[in-house]
Amino acid sequence: MSEPIKTKTCFKCKQAKPTSEFYKCSNHTDGLGSNCKECDKQIANNYRRIHHTECLKTENQYNQTHRLYRQEYASQYRKTIQGHLRSIWYQMLRRCRNPQHQRFKDYGARGIHVNFACFEDFYQYVKELMRQQGFDPRTLTIDRIDNNGHYEPGNIQFVTMAENCHNRRPRKKDQLSYPSTVILNVVTEPLTDVVSHCK
Ligand SMILES: [Zn+2]
Repeated sequence: MSEPIKTKTCFKCKQAKPTSEFYKCSNHTDGLGSNCKECDKQIANNYRRIHHTECLKTENQYNQTHRLYRQEYASQYRKTIQGHLRSIWYQMLRRCRNPQHQRFKDYGARGIHVNFACFEDFYQYVKELMRQQGFDPRTLTIDRIDNNGHYEPGNIQFVTMAENCHNRRPRKKDQLSYPSTVILNVVTEPLTDVVSHCK
């Protein structure tokens, strides 16, 4: 038997709504705010419209005092495995999809794709690799096993910087032997399209 949904009447709009439609508020005996979320948002928007300049000033002050805190937080996050992998993820996307990137010619221009739907998919895949192979990606760089293949499951590995340099394509003087058909398929999707796929 499922329990009946608890409701509360909003002080402002006088409508009875499920308690999930109210923000938490520890000052009240029932632990919920007096107004429903919708009314609270309306009140906040109205306030912001009227006190636009003051709001902006307060926000700027807040941003200034918290800038250092945010920088510190970001630098700590980059030291975690997830943070390190996230920065690798964005570097991969830029190399493959942003024609302005200085290394685009070696990636996107050669038709190399990132074949993970979003960061979370990539992260889960690397976590499984780490579990199987027992490495810490923070001291390593990402590498494609087949240099003509994509960044995709089965074709990525984590290697030291020295190994990564060794795995590179032959330099200019040997490039005639390199198949010219690969230098097609320039990917021009903007970066934002990729990011919006993410959950
Ligand atoms: Zn309401």
